[in-house]
Amino acid sequence: MSDLSMLINGLKVTAEKNATFERRNPLDGTVATRAPAASPADAVMAVEAAAEAFKTWSETGPGERRMLLLKAAEKLEAKVPQFVEAVSAETGATGMWAGFNVMLAAGMIREAAGLTTQISGEVIPSDVPGSLAMGIRQPAGVVLGIAPWNAPIILGVRAICVPLACGNTVILKGSENCPRTHQLIIEAFQEAGFPPGVVNYITNAPADAGAVVDAMVAHPAVRRVNFTGSTKVGRLIAQTCAKYLKPVVLELGGKAPLVILDDADIEDAVNGAAFGCFANSGQVCMSTERIIVDQKIADEFVKKFGAKASGLPLGDPRKPEPVVLGSVIGMSTVHHCNALIDDALAQGAKLVCGGKAENTLMPATVLDHVTPKMRIYHEETFGPVKCIVRVKNTEEAIACANDNEYGLSAAVFGRDIARAFNVARKIDSGICHVNGPTVHDEAQMPFGGVKGSGIGRFGGKAGIAEFTELRWITVQTTPRHYPF
Ligand code: NAD
Repeated sequence: MSDLSMLINGLKVTAEKNATFERRNPLDGTVATRAPAASPADAVMAVEAAAEAFKTWSETGPGERRMLLLKAAEKLEAKVPQFVEAVSAETGATGMWAGFNVMLAAGMIREAAGLTTQISGEVIPSDVPGSLAMGIRQPAGVVLGIAPWNAPIILGVRAICVPLACGNTVILKGSENCPRTHQLIIEAFQEAGFPPGVVNYITNAPADAGAVVDAMVAHPAVRRVNFTGSTKVGRLIAQTCAKYLKPVVLELGGKAPLVILDDADIEDAVNGAAFGCFANSGQVCMSTERIIVDQKIADEFVKKFGAKASGLPLGDPRKPEPVVLGSVIGMSTVHHCNALIDDALAQGAKLVCGGKAENTLMPATVLDHVTPKMRIYHEETFGPVKCIVRVKNTEEAIACANDNEYGLSAAVFGRDIARAFNVARKIDSGICHVNGPTVHDEAQMPFGGVKGSGIGRFGGKAGIAEFTELRWITVQTTPRHYPF
């Protein structure tokens, strides 16, 4: 168990009245972390520290920001053992998942460091004689980043690194499910030497999330908000941002389809589907949630996929034996997935492997012959419970892929690349991979969804557009003509 502090203006602080909350291990219920439970007043202090620091940080050159970001990447990588320990204690995820998180997150910080010299503008031809007209990107102000627990290091880092590279100051609001994991990120940035107030960290008790977030969004110094989490909470945050006219990047839920065309390489599709379905026990926004397979090859695919899925090792991630599936985040995931399994089986689905779970060690579970009348066809499981929908042809596969409120990631498997590419183009999602898994992220790529999966893009140059203010500035270089 550890006792944490928040970070405001470079100082480790407790919450008002020393209020705290506990995060318990999902497997055995022991207290994993005790963290400060910020009040709205604490949160406002963090905004004010960030607003003060913005005055000087926004004037720094790219070299200084790049150097500090590169140091932060190094410091983050040096904490792999602490991350592995914190992630398994707080979320139940495996060491493999924590290690992958650190690797990708460090890459994101390095990519952000490279972006510091890519924040470019343009000179725009003006019809006014002698007017030099420019589109200039400037730091926006204080950026509030709200990150979830499921890919905790990647998503915590993503919430702050490009905003910092753009010259903004930031507040990370950590997840109630992994306050220690998120604090380790902040420690890495602090050890790198970011000036006081540039990076701030707030933690809150679950019941206070709404009030704490509202207080920060309402503050005039906060000029951008980014949120990664569920579509339900994303809608609430979008409403708050609308009230105060704050631009917001929303990276929300998903129900990624993986389409297997009749000419697909079956082994390849099995491997891609297994990784996409069961990485981090299916608790990834890009997780393959629906396998849509042409009926001509469905029997062969299901047989091989079922064999692969049922062989994936499951167990307590704190034990030395490596596992692919660790614990899920809590019993609410178990109850939700069990209900979806019951509903599907009652309506004619066939269980290929796995089944209902009694605790948070959930086996890889596959349901075949799923149809639109079943809940699992539409609802995000966010666990290791996956469905297979058999379709007659390519047109039906595309229609099925789009028959959902979400649109984050997707994949298409097929040997005829031109056909597979044309299917990819017709799928309503922000991301789609041909002959690759739905779970795939790289720091430099434009990452984001459509429909219920959110708005805006993280990653690469797309992130610069989100976290800077594009201004039109002119300089009149010759005497200006006026009509009166
Ligand atoms: P969640 O939406 O329940 O919680 C996320 C955050 O929202 C927490 O920090 C919490 O403090 C805050 N919050 C809760 N209630 C709030 C309120 N009323 N007002 C303001 N803030 C509030 O999400 P979760 O269960 O932690 O994460 C899982 C979800 O996130 C899944 O749906 C998953 O698909 C999605 N996700 C999306 C991406 C992406 O990039 N698109 C990545 C990871 C996870």
